[in-house]
Parts: sequence; C-alpha cells; structure tokens
Amino acid sequence: MTRHRPERILVTGGAGFIGSNLIHWLLRTYPDLHLVNLDALTYAGSLENLADLPDGSRHSFVHGDIRDGALVAQLLRDHRIDTVIHLAAESHVDRSISGPAAFVETNVLGTFTLLEACRKAWLVERLRGVRSVRFHHVSTDEVYGSLGPDDPPFTESTPYAPSSPYSASKAGSDHLVRAYAHTWKLPCTLSNCSNNFGPRQHAEKFIPTVIRSCSAGRPIPVYGNGLNVRDWLFVDDHCEAIDRIVRHAEDGETYNVGGSCERSNLEVVHAICGIMDALRPSAAPHARLISFVTDRPGHDWRYAIDMTRISERLGWRPSGSFETLLERTIAHALV
Ligand code: NAD
Repeated sequence: MTRHRPERILVTGGAGFIGSNLIHWLLRTYPDLHLVNLDALTYAGSLENLADLPDGSRHSFVHGDIRDGALVAQLLRDHRIDTVIHLAAESHVDRSISGPAAFVETNVLGTFTLLEACRKAWLVERLRGVRSVRFHHVSTDEVYGSLGPDDPPFTESTPYAPSSPYSASKAGSDHLVRAYAHTWKLPCTLSNCSNNFGPRQHAEKFIPTVIRSCSAGRPIPVYGNGLNVRDWLFVDDHCEAIDRIVRHAEDGETYNVGGSCERSNLEVVHAICGIMDALRPSAAPHARLISFVTDRPGHDWRYAIDMTRISERLGWRPSGSFETLLERTIAHALV
C-alpha cells in the first residue's frame, strides 16, 4: 500500500555520488516530481554529476550547508517541500580517521539541524499537513560494526556497534532521527545500506581507485591482505530501494538494503582486472599491478546484510549480476 506520495522533495547531498544518481533516477522515473538539491559542494560534491539531467527544469540546485537552519527553513517554506531525502554527509572512513571533527559537525549536527527545521515547519507551523510529509534518512550498514566470517548478516535489530568516527557519527544521526520520530511523531523512515558502486562515485573510493590504477598502469593499493569482505550494492538499485521505502514504508520503519553480493576486496580487484584485461588486452594481466599496503587502523573485517524485511514487505530485490554492473561502472569511468 502506498503510504506517501512525494511531490516536492528536498534532497540533501545531491551533488555527491548516491545523491546525484538518485536525482537522475527520480527525474527519469517520475515526470511530475520537483526536486530541490541542497549541497555544500565539499570536495566530494560536483556539479558535473548533475550534467545532462533528464528534464532539469524540475531540479533546483541550492549551494548551501545543511547546518544552516535558516536556509533549510526557507527552502522548506518557499518550495513547499513535502519530503526530505537526507544523504548529505562526510562519507569516507579514511578521512574520518585523519579528521573526525567534520564528521561530527555534518553527520550529527547537520542531521539535527534538518530534523529541527522539519519539526518546526511541519509540526509547529504546519506548512504541510502532517499526513503528507516524510523525512527519509540514508545511513550505512557500518553502524552495526564488524562481523566474523561465520556470523549471520546484519538485520534491522542487530545492536549498534560502530567502530570508526564515520560510523559512530552516522549512528548518532540515526539515533536522532528515531528520537524525533518517537518524541514528536515526525514521520520518518531510515535505511542502512551496504557499499554502493556505480557511475559518478568519487575517485577516492575503492572501486574508482582500482579502475583508475588499472587504466593508468599504476599500482593498485589493497589494504592488509585484501580479505576484508563487503557487500556490494549497485547505486541505481539503491535509488529504487530508497524510493520504495519513502513511498511504502510505515512511519518509523528502518530497512536494510544490500546487494546480495559479498566479496573480499581482493575478489573485487580481480573482477575489475579481468574486465580491464578484456578491454585492454595489451596491458594484461592487470592483476600484476596489485600492491598490498598497510591496513587501515581498526579496519572492520566483514559487513553483510540480511534483506528479508525489504524483500518481503516491499518486494525489492537487487538487479543484475555484480560482474555485469561492474562492466557498466567501468565503461562509465573510462569515458
Ligand atoms: P558523497 O561523499 O559522495 O557525497 C556527499 C555529498 O554531501 C557531497 O555532494 C557533499 O558536497 C555533500 N555535503 C557534505 N557535507 C555537507 C553539508 N554540511 N551540507 C550540505 N552538503 C554537504 O557520499 P555518498 O557516497 O553519495 O553517500 C551519501 C549518503 O549515503 C551518506 O549519508 C552516506 O553515509 C550514505 N552511505 C553511502 C554508502 C556508499 O557506499 N557510498 C554506503 C552506505 C551509506
């Protein structure tokens, strides 16, 4: 059953990787949606990610910070926003180790500022009817901590055990969203997803780094022994999952979103090298470029997602095979 029909969405972080793909996906999928995109254009955001939008007249870009409460209040009012999809964040674990302050400021204080602005606009000033609004918070499976090789995957009731400043700050933001849902009945939903991959991902992340290294014939850096395991989710599949949750979940519900695709880092590197060998046989084998480097401090061993809830309640499943989606990602990166 449809619980919510968005008409005017404020997307935060829409110049980043997942946010920009979500904007492309929403404009492609729904011909009547209006989107406002609030992004501070940190090192991770780029207007290039928003080039060639389908029907860009339904998208307004606002250069600003989610911690600017007055700006957020004005956007909610002026654009008559009925839905917030919150993706803006500091998102790179390595950066959270070298400089954690920005993670607390954006991920915790920024989320708090957005929630306060929505509470005032929707529940106090009643700019929109409370039945017609929704705040969706995009979070990570890293809030659940690290799994051993034989542990069952994370479910929505796995206790939080974040271990990096990044995951701790995302956990803090998740708790704030639940507190607003519980205390003031702000209509909120949450999702915790695994590692995304696909077009428009920032160069510093793992898969883009491997592709770039292969392409340039440079060493491919692999942390530790390369056996850490992640679940991989194609970004367009994630966008579809977010949309289903926003439209069909009950107020207050959380959904785990994964790709049913657990791979060690080394397996991912070999898959990319295999595709690059086929594309550029003269440089094969690209696997000769693999170079093991000192492990990240406190590197979580394994993440895995149990998707029973989203598949049973919302009928969502990831599409395609990892290898095919990786080929698409590589083709986009090499253009
Ligand atoms: P990203 O780093 O590519 O993009 C983040 C965007 O937020 C950038 O455009 C940046 O300019 C913007 N931003 C940062 N601070 C801001 C601020 N104070 N005000 C306004 N805008 C700001 O991130 P991503 O990979 O697209 O991730 C999006 C969301 O999904 C994040 O909340 C992240 O925690 C979550 N997530 C990502 C992954 C993944 O694999 N990429 C996995 C799980 C969860």
